[in-house]
Amino acid sequence: MLRDLRDAMEKEELQLFYQPQLDLQTGKIIGAEALLRWWKKDASKEGGAFISPGEFIPIAEQSGLIVPIGEWVMRKACTTAKKWHDLYGMDIRIAINVSAHQFSQSDICSFTQKTIGEIGINPHKVELEVTESVFMDDIQHTIESLQNLHAIGVELAIDDFGTGYSSLSYLRQFPIDRLKIDQSFIRNALNDPDDASIARTIIALGRALNLFVIAEGVETKEHERFLVAEGCDEVQGFRYCRPIPADDFMEFVTNYDGDIKSFDKQD
Ligand code: C2E
Ligand code: MG
Ligand code: MG
Repeated sequence: MLRDLRDAMEKEELQLFYQPQLDLQTGKIIGAEALLRWWKKDASKEGGAFISPGEFIPIAEQSGLIVPIGEWVMRKACTTAKKWHDLYGMDIRIAINVSAHQFSQSDICSFTQKTIGEIGINPHKVELEVTESVFMDDIQHTIESLQNLHAIGVELAIDDFGTGYSSLSYLRQFPIDRLKIDQSFIRNALNDPDDASIARTIIALGRALNLFVIAEGVETKEHERFLVAEGCDEVQGFRYCRPIPADDFMEFVTNYDGDIKSFDKQD
């Protein structure tokens, strides 16, 4: 798999899909998360199949390949967002997943600064999503990297929040802008009171610390209703749109009438 993944990079078999993020109050599309896809060619009649990042990211991390892959992702995602901005006047934030290994194995800050400068994208429109695992490595190095990234203007989100080692003290120490409630809590919020309480608590924590809170894995009207009632800021999930290629994303944005209620019709 590692050999195939190396080949895939060279043969440009990696792609980015984009999934919209919406503001729950205004209904506006305010962001897009870039999600890696690997179209692995094979002998089937389709000519290949998509391999999920859940399968190949761990291998990329173990082998160090995550560094060149992560750099490719950042360059590609920023280039696409800049094109959307310049050609279509679309002013949305691009969210990029960054693995903890990219902090320990490369100078993520210099690379980000250089890339943003070369592409000419507004750094405030770039958000890096890190998981709580980033706080378990060299903590001093992580603090410096996050502070440097923030100083450039890049926004920072904690992905899958609530599933890792949550030391609440780092929320004050680190320049975080946004908490991303893990999708498992949203999925079970309606039938498991404990998960509902966790989701509610994360939203309250975000409000108390002046952070934005986004929920991922929002699949149904009921999920949305729960999040509206709890005062969550932003949403992302299959209810609105699955991750799709860049051109389809543009089409989605163009066709969207700006009213979040329009998704009710699909229920
Ligand atoms: P993540 O960053 O937490 O991304 C959210 C995942 O949830 C995505 O899976 C997305 O397709 C899926 N999702 C979105 N809405 C819904 C929903 O309503 N219901 C359900 N059931 N799922 C939903 P995906 O694309 O398979 O990515 C899995 C993980 O792989 C990501 O989790 C992220 O940790 C990692 N990943 C993806 N792209 C990259 C990348 O470029 N770099 C790094 N380091 N990791 C990446
Ligand atoms: Mg993410
Ligand atoms: Mg997540």
